[in-house]
Amino acid sequence: MNDRADTAVKATATDLEGSAFFMPYTANREFKKAPRMLERAEGMYYWTPEGRKILDGTAGLWCVNAGHCRPKIAEAIAAQAKKLDFAPSFQMGHPIAFEFAERLSAIAPKGVGRVFYTNSGSESADTALKFALAYHRARGEAGRFRLIGRERGYHGVNFGGMSVGGIVGNRKTFGTAMLPGVDHIRHTHDPVRNLMTHGQPAHGVEFAEDLERLVALHDASSIAAVIVEPVAGSTGVLIPPKGYLERLREICTRHGILLIFDEVITGFGRLGTPFAADYFGVKPDMITCAKGITNGTIPMGAVLISDEIYEAFMKGPDGMEFFHGYTYSGHPMACAAGIATLDVYAEEGLLTRAAELAKYWEDALWKLKASKHVMDLRVIGLVGGIELHPREGAPGKRAFEAFTKAFDKGVLIRVTSDTIAVSPPLIVEKAQIDQIVGTISEVLATVA
Ligand code: PLP
Repeated sequence: MNDRADTAVKATATDLEGSAFFMPYTANREFKKAPRMLERAEGMYYWTPEGRKILDGTAGLWCVNAGHCRPKIAEAIAAQAKKLDFAPSFQMGHPIAFEFAERLSAIAPKGVGRVFYTNSGSESADTALKFALAYHRARGEAGRFRLIGRERGYHGVNFGGMSVGGIVGNRKTFGTAMLPGVDHIRHTHDPVRNLMTHGQPAHGVEFAEDLERLVALHDASSIAAVIVEPVAGSTGVLIPPKGYLERLREICTRHGILLIFDEVITGFGRLGTPFAADYFGVKPDMITCAKGITNGTIPMGAVLISDEIYEAFMKGPDGMEFFHGYTYSGHPMACAAGIATLDVYAEEGLLTRAAELAKYWEDALWKLKASKHVMDLRVIGLVGGIELHPREGAPGKRAFEAFTKAFDKGVLIRVTSDTIAVSPPLIVEKAQIDQIVGTISEVLATVA
């Protein structure tokens, strides 16, 4: 057997050590020694190759909002694959991309409904940042080149998103390649004042004033945009303090700085409204989204743009208004998946279902208050963050152990550092919420 054939055999065997697949954001060697595999899915559940049923407590990766393998979405994708598999979107068009944009526009916050397609959350972040630069240039303010992010922000893995993001791992490894002209406001996490708060923390509106510090340092005339997640997901479910997003909006408006909400996880009903912008009643200038846009079925993202930004481009000189795009921007199969997804969301009221369940969800998660190791609970919409006291000298290990034990007990949760993050599909039933919380409670009782 030659080397290539050997690799092919290993990839299909249960023994994955030496497999060709370099897994993303994964401890490859550890995983391949003791894999956690998912082979099929339906509704709220995954099944492992051995036939174990796993309750999905994380909507895949915050994306399968309508539950798995929904027939309507699968059929739409299959039909589109047979009708028009691909068509270019550069100087050409296909009807379904225009149709989907109208549908997205109809659920977007009022006035933020112009749609530019990408293929992922990371691409959405970089696209929004490029829009900000090009917008100011189009208006004759090319001097606004600075991009402001926030500590503990996550905006994906591309160079723009990574630069405005505040993930230490990214900044340490790729620090030399960060974009110039980027700065950060401080994060909003304040455990001293806000530990164990129900809903939005009472303290911390003043953290928005940190933007004034950067304005004083760099001058507003050099700042193009600020990008924040309304609720930071990847760094441990950080809920904005009361009044914080409103204050950030005021400061941005006062200084002519664009405000971008990264709604890659909060978009499409996660908080009980179509977007977090609706939940908090704050209108950003752009919204980045992905994940739930196609229920996680086909990779896709989008940047939703305000009418003002759109009009500024359309008033420019004749010709191409925005020098940017991806081969797969508005891919027909992704658009078909997206339209079917929005149909399912509408038919089942999923964009607002989290609001109906929020109280039950919150009460259930707060039962963990008395569990061993629990330091903080942060719950909003259908999102829950359970922060554990870190194990002495081994940060992250305790939560990771809870994750593997929960998987063994048939529930998929997610961990980031020492925070367990749960965000089930929006079709979750109360009994399944009880199972998620009950399993977390059991595993916390057994992890050291
Ligand atoms: N932005 C936020 C807020 C995210 O949570 C994520 C992914 O989790 C991204 C961007 C990156 O999205 P993707 O992994 O689709 O590139």
